[in-house]
Amino acid sequence: IINKMKQNYNKHIKLICATCGSSDFFDKNEKTGVITCKKCNRVYNGGYDEIVELNEKNINSEVESMKKEVEQDIIKDLNNMFKKAGFKLK
Ligand SMILES: [Zn+2]
Repeated sequence: IINKMKQNYNKHIKLICATCGSSDFFDKNEKTGVITCKKCNRVYNGGYDEIVELNEKNINSEVESMKKEVEQDIIKDLNNMFKKAGFKLK
């Protein structure tokens, strides 16, 4: 389950620029760790951590919906298990 959550986490959560909302234009300076948005030229001196912090609200809601997804998968799995075992579920 944890692995599954990690996979979903990587798949679902995109960090976006707090200024222009773009997610594909980040340029990271490997030496300083400073990240620049190539689209709007916003500079994140705090690097990745700063973007994560700014995206935290987004991430939290993603995590919440992801949790529900995972829960539903578990419920499905359990239902299948019970069905195979011959239990009848309402
Ligand atoms: Zn930007």
